[in-house]
Amino acid sequence: MTINILFAAKSERWDTYREPLTTALDKTGLNYDLRPDFPPEQVDYIVYAPNSSVQDFRPYTNLKAVLNLWAGVENVVHNETLSVPLARMVDHGLTQGMIEWVTGHALRHHLGMDTHINGQDGQWRTQVPPLAQDRPITILGMGALGQACAAALTTLGFPVTGWSRSAKTVPQVTTLHGPDGLKTALETAQMLILLLPDTPATTDILNADTLAQLPRGAVVINPGRGPLIDDTALLAALDSGQVGHATLDVFRTEPLPRDHPYWAHPKVTVTPHIASATREGTASEVIAENIRRGEAGEPFLHLVDRSLGY
Ligand code: NAP
Repeated sequence: MTINILFAAKSERWDTYREPLTTALDKTGLNYDLRPDFPPEQVDYIVYAPNSSVQDFRPYTNLKAVLNLWAGVENVVHNETLSVPLARMVDHGLTQGMIEWVTGHALRHHLGMDTHINGQDGQWRTQVPPLAQDRPITILGMGALGQACAAALTTLGFPVTGWSRSAKTVPQVTTLHGPDGLKTALETAQMLILLLPDTPATTDILNADTLAQLPRGAVVINPGRGPLIDDTALLAALDSGQVGHATLDVFRTEPLPRDHPYWAHPKVTVTPHIASATREGTASEVIAENIRRGEAGEPFLHLVDRSLGY
């Protein structure tokens, strides 16, 4: 029996994924056919990007699983036509990219690089930054990406507090969880990094109340998702000095509209959703492994809990 694998993403992605997916699938020894087009009832697996033209899964009557190419699943998890398992992307390349983006932006603020990069005005500014050990960082979201970033930041010497929905133990990280742990996680955070998924429970988690719980002048770094932040509250906190700077990679509307106040705000850095991306080579290995598992009757990796939304 041939396993039919539909590649459902923007057409330009087929050009970049065709070869690495074929290489990875060949290694499984499975008899498969991989194409960007199939009669729906013949499809066994969909390799999926939520911005593809496939939005109604009902015609895919023999579907075994949808394998998401993105870490975030907010644009597919609530699709009521989807009744088969949904796996999200956890990919070594994506994780490494996020570590690099987060540590880079954290070090920029920690070392006060802007002062020297922007201040080539003949002034001899001698303020020495504190050591990392004296700069507590909090990460909201201790999943695949949050834990990897925490490990990198602790290696650099930062005291890291991590907050998640469920209790967990992470080496060298102070862990807190649930609504009760949030206040403690925020009140020490000289730098706050958001690596939560976009779910009904995390929408506007950074709002006027929670921003007020940060130490004055804290830096906010958001590579998670735009709806995690109440933008009006963040702008007010920046203007009052409660927040010293915000580095934002993700927004409620992307691309960020040209007239959005974030663009011109002197205390905001906008990056265009480039913190990290799925890397074709490593992601294809994950997809192939999940299809192998599906065919062997083994549990899928990185399954989404549809009731939690991530
Ligand atoms: P993940 O492994 O699913 O981890 C999510 C973390 O958030 C978990 O620790 C989870 O807690 C926690 N969480 C979820 N809901 C919560 C709640 N209501 N209260 C407290 N904690 C909650 O996800 P990931 O792979 O680390 O990715 C995180 C997010 O990064 C993605 O969802 C995506 O939005 C974003 N992302 C952005 C980019 C970019 O380029 N900007 C790239 C990739 C991913 P538990 O551990 O208790 O479940």
